[in-house]
Order: sequence, then C-alpha cells, then structure tokens
Amino acid sequence: MRRLLFMAIVLFASSAALFADGESDGAGEKAICTKNMDASVKPGDNFFEYVNGGWIKSHPVPPEYSQYGAFTILYEENQKKLRSLIEKVSAQENAPKGSVAQKIRDFYNSGMDTVAIEKLGVKPIQKELNKIIELKNNEDVVAYMATMQRYGMAPVFYFFASADQRNSSMEIANLYQGGLGLPDVDYYLNDNESSKKLRESYVNHLTKMFQLIGENEEQAKKSADAVMAFETKLAGVSFTRVEQRDPVKNYNKMTLVQLKETAPGYDWDSFFKSLGLEDPGDINVGQIKFFKGVSDLMNETDMATWKAYLTWNLLDASANYLSDDFVKQNFEFYGKTLSGQPEMQPRWKRVLGVVSGGLGEALGQLYVEEYFPASSKERMVTLVNNLRAAFGQRVAKLDWMTDETKKKAQEKLDAITVKIGYPDKWRDYSKLEIVPGSYFDNIIAVREFGFNRNLKKIGKSVDKAEWGMTPQTVNAYYNPSNNEIVFPAAILQPPFFSPDADDAVNYGAIGVVIGHEMTHGFDDQGRQYDKDGNLNDWWTEADANAFKEKTDKLVALFDNYVVLDSLHVNGNLTLGENIADLGGLNISYQAYQNSLNGKTPEPVDGLTSDQRFYMGYAQVWRQNIRPKALEQSLKTDVHSPGEARVNVPPFNIDAFIKAFNVKEGDKLYIPKDDRAYIW
Ligand SMILES: [Zn+2]
Repeated sequence: MRRLLFMAIVLFASSAALFADGESDGAGEKAICTKNMDASVKPGDNFFEYVNGGWIKSHPVPPEYSQYGAFTILYEENQKKLRSLIEKVSAQENAPKGSVAQKIRDFYNSGMDTVAIEKLGVKPIQKELNKIIELKNNEDVVAYMATMQRYGMAPVFYFFASADQRNSSMEIANLYQGGLGLPDVDYYLNDNESSKKLRESYVNHLTKMFQLIGENEEQAKKSADAVMAFETKLAGVSFTRVEQRDPVKNYNKMTLVQLKETAPGYDWDSFFKSLGLEDPGDINVGQIKFFKGVSDLMNETDMATWKAYLTWNLLDASANYLSDDFVKQNFEFYGKTLSGQPEMQPRWKRVLGVVSGGLGEALGQLYVEEYFPASSKERMVTLVNNLRAAFGQRVAKLDWMTDETKKKAQEKLDAITVKIGYPDKWRDYSKLEIVPGSYFDNIIAVREFGFNRNLKKIGKSVDKAEWGMTPQTVNAYYNPSNNEIVFPAAILQPPFFSPDADDAVNYGAIGVVIGHEMTHGFDDQGRQYDKDGNLNDWWTEADANAFKEKTDKLVALFDNYVVLDSLHVNGNLTLGENIADLGGLNISYQAYQNSLNGKTPEPVDGLTSDQRFYMGYAQVWRQNIRPKALEQSLKTDVHSPGEARVNVPPFNIDAFIKAFNVKEGDKLYIPKDDRAYIW
C-alpha cells in the first residue's frame, strides 16, 4: 500500500525500519540548549553547524541506524510508548476473539515467536512458489500478478484507488510504474563505477535469495541475471523521479478500451478479472511511456524470466517475515550495502513497526487516549489560524503577482482544511482476521484487508475524513486533492512543539512545519491544484512565469549545494520541499511578529528572539547520516538533507541575514539578486 499516499506531500521522508534505540533528549531540556551549539562556527559560514555542532559531535549514528536526528529520537520515544501499550493489551489473555485487543496481541506475539518462525523456514511461501512454477503463458502470468497485488506486492506496477486528480471528490483506479528492486532508475542506468559495483552487489543478493529457496548456485545466478536484465528494461521505460513530480504528465485518465489500445500487449482483461473487477471504470495511467514499454515486454519476455522475476518479487516482499536466513540476507543488502547501516534493529522494534502499520489506527486510538492531551490540539488550532492569517497578509503584499491571481490564492488558502492529532472517525478492523500462530499469514491477512478496503473505493466518492497517516507517526503532510494539512499527534512534541518553550522557538519549529505544509498548496506542484483539490490551472500566464523565474533561483541554489565530496543536492527533485521550507519560514516569522504586537522580547541566554526563531527551525533538522544513506537520499528523496534545509533557505530571508549579521564573504552568503523571494 506504499502508493496510496502517493499524492500526499510529507514533511520528512523516513522509514520506520531505519530507527532504533537512542536516549531521550527532548523533554526536560531548555528550548535552545547552548551545549548543542558550536559557537566557534560563524552562522554565516555554516548555520547548521553553529546551531547543531555540539549535538552532532555528541550523537554519532548508533550501529542500528543509517541516520540519527530529532525525528529519530521522537520516533524512538514513541516506540517505547507503543511497546508499553502493546504489552498492556497482550496481558489481556481473555480478550474476546475478534476484538482489537486480540488482534494486536496475536499479531505482535506471532511476530515475536521466533521458534515457530524458524521452524517454518520457507514453508509459509511454498504454496505461492509452487503457483509460480506452474505458470504456463502470459495470461497466467498476468492473473498471478493480480493475485500478488492482493497480497500487497506490486510486481511491475502499482494498482490502487485514489482521488481523480481532476475530479477530486471521486475515487478512480490508478496504474503507476514500479517493479524495481533497486531504489531508483539511476542505479540501473548510470555508467559510473559505484553504480556498476552496486549492481554487482544486487545480483549477488538476488543469487543468494534464490539459493535460500533451494536453487543451486548455477541456477540461482541464472535467475538473478534474468531478473536484473528484466528490471533494467523496466528502468529504461520508467519516468525519473523529477518527471514523476509533474502532476499533469502523470495524469492520463482513460477507459479500459483506451488502456487496451495504449498497452495492447498486456492482458488487461485477465488482470481485472483476477481482481474481481470486471469494470474498473476510468483508469488513470500514471506513465504512458512505462505502460507502453510493459506492453512490449510482454511479447519479448520468456516464461523462465517471468518466473524468476515473480519469484524474486514474492521473496522480496516476504523476506522480513520468514526465518532468520531470509531476514539476514535481506538486511545484508538493503540495510548494510545500500544504507551503510551496520546492525539490524532488535526484533521487537521491527515487529512493533509492522503492527503499528498494519493495525495503525487501532494502536493509534490507544496511543492518543494515553499520550495526547486535549490542550495540545487547542494550541495547534490557534497556531494554524495565526499562520493562515500571516500567509494571507504576505500574499496581499506580493510584488510579483497580479490581483487576479492573488484573489484565487487567497480563496485557496481560506479553503485549506486542517486535521490535528487523530481522526474523528476510527478505522473499522472488524473484518480483519488475525490468528495466533503464523506471522506470515497475519501479514498477508493485513495486506489483503488493506487492498480490498482500497479496491472497494473505486467509483465511490472520496471520504475526506480519512487520514493518510496514523496518529503515532512523527510527520505531517499536505494532500493536494483534499487541499488539507494534517498533523498527527506524534509530531506535537518537543523539539517541534513544546508547551514550555518560548514562542520564538515554537514558531520556528512547529510554526514553520505548519507554514511548510500550507506552502505545499502553493509550491510548483501544489499550485497547479485549485481550492477544491482539482488539477486546474488558476494562474495567469504572467504570474506563472514570474513564479518560475523565482523558483529557478531556488533550483540553482540547491543544485550548487555540495553535501558530500562531489555530491550535490538535486534542485529540481527537491524543489517542492525547498519552496515549502522557505515559505514556512517566512509565513511563521510573520505570524510570530503579529503575535508580538510590536514588542521585542528580552534575549534568552544572550540570544535575541529573532535568533531563537531561526534556531528553533535549525534544531529540528539536526541529524547525523551515514554517507551511503546520504548518497541514496540524494537520488531518491524529494527532501533535501537536513544540513541543506538549514543552510540554504534562511539565507534568502532578509530578517535572518539581519538577525545573524550575515555579510558578503561569509560562506553561505547569497547576493541579493540571486535570492529567491517567493511566498
Ligand atoms: Zn514537505
């Protein structure tokens, strides 16, 4: 179900699997703690180091992480809270069958029962492996691909329901490119030494996985080579991540008849029939080029390759829930080789992450009852209102936008809906059956439940009350087709949101987060959606051109930012996020000034309120990251690394330049003409 939230734009890309143990240094500490700084660094030379240098030195990445920062620490504290909730629930031995308590208990316990899991070995997937062996022709292949979709696996492409981007109140079927085992197209197609080496490691990993299901070395190598060759062809017809950021290019709504004409080589009748969906209605085909390519591949791919490829997809999506040999091999490649992470997380954390994902709102309900005070919600409502007013003031004063477009922008801003903490209506898990015993069977039950739930939406109206993140997620998002901003309970904690901190720091942290999410409605993607969440251009041509001219400056600034040896940030890939950070800083600063009503607060620890505002922002992004993980994130993540998020956007802001007395000659100084003044 990775793609369900495809259109939602999150604050921070992180994978639960990356996280593990760490000490708490959120609560109980001063809002800005001078020991976390490195005052020997000039703010204008490296603002990230100036604010976070002390913290960075004292928090090396622990072995079971690929990165470690403010998000990690909050996540870690959450894990402990969730564990105690699960343990409380697990103690209820008499929980009635079918109750949420029974499901949480049995799911978690089945994942922790390593004796049973070891004993089973490859057995849980044997039936599926046999089905693949028996495939005879393309029709069989397509029908089995549909079965795999049901299991939450996505060979070749993703299939899911989501809002029609041009009719945002209706759910339609979507096809979206996928099917690659490496994190990005680049890894398959780049000709440099490091990519070649990585491809070798990948083939080696594939070989070992095939050996684990009983193929001898020669067979396994052959299977691995076939998978690699097939995926390389898929990569060749895939959109790049930058291309995927264009909502218009990725919107191609058509009927089933048109789909069959567009990609005639793929047996769509067999696919939909196997899904039990004879009439899928309108279908959005994300990437025409890709599905045409898949259509061609159907004709030129032999049965042995299909079998190897589908077997690999099954293994890849199952490895973590099988015996230790599978888990270890999977970590060896995806954890160690790709992310540079030396050690795996302890089992309880991994299983907890799975339960927290699969029974997300069930656990979420317990989480907010125990840990989310009503007062936090009230304070957030006030903050969001202040931010919205400040954004409106700034729009009114923009010197580059015509009144006509400003009016539409204000309407869209006023129409943004806000969700805070947790959903009004909790998800119903009554149809999900979780049994004591087989971890893998429970995984499949959860995935099928999710898939069926999603499939049923096709052709119905969008449930705008639904949440795309669980309350226990440390993150936030903007969903353009709902024109909504969403803040789960778990992000409303220090260092983002602290009841004890001074306003300067809170506006710099959670205030900027709110402004960041609001700005997503007006970034290079979001601005193409109207107030009702439809992909519908409301800009005059001149205003669109003026916007582009400004955002090009931001692209150039990030393109030029070097984070690791010769590695740069990709300014086009990260543009939406960078616009949102810059907008968030400006809007929240304005809201903070409004709240001061002309007064200037006394400095704290020698730091002015303006300085504390920007430092509140900078410490949210403190982070240590392993070089391999950084390299991967530069290729795949639409977010710039924490260091660049701190060292570029503020240097476009006059109030920041003044607050820290940044001067020409300072390393991060940006000449006025090159600065991006957008929102
Ligand atoms: Zn964002």
